Amino acid sequence: MLRKLKSYFQERCPECSEKLHATTDSLRCIKSCPNRHYTEETYSHLNIRIIYHN
Ligand SMILES: [Zn+2]
Repeated sequence: MLRKLKSYFQERCPECSEKLHATTDSLRCIKSCPNRHYTEETYSHLNIRIIYHN
């Protein structure tokens, strides 16, 4: 289960395996698929991660 969870937060899109495009600003880090399958927003200071998986 842990392994599955870990693999879910990944560097590549689970749909198309494209490398996720990362952008970082002062509030958050956003990783997203260039084909818009998957977006991951991380608010590290709030310890929150939001995942959009279409
Ligand atoms: Zn994708």
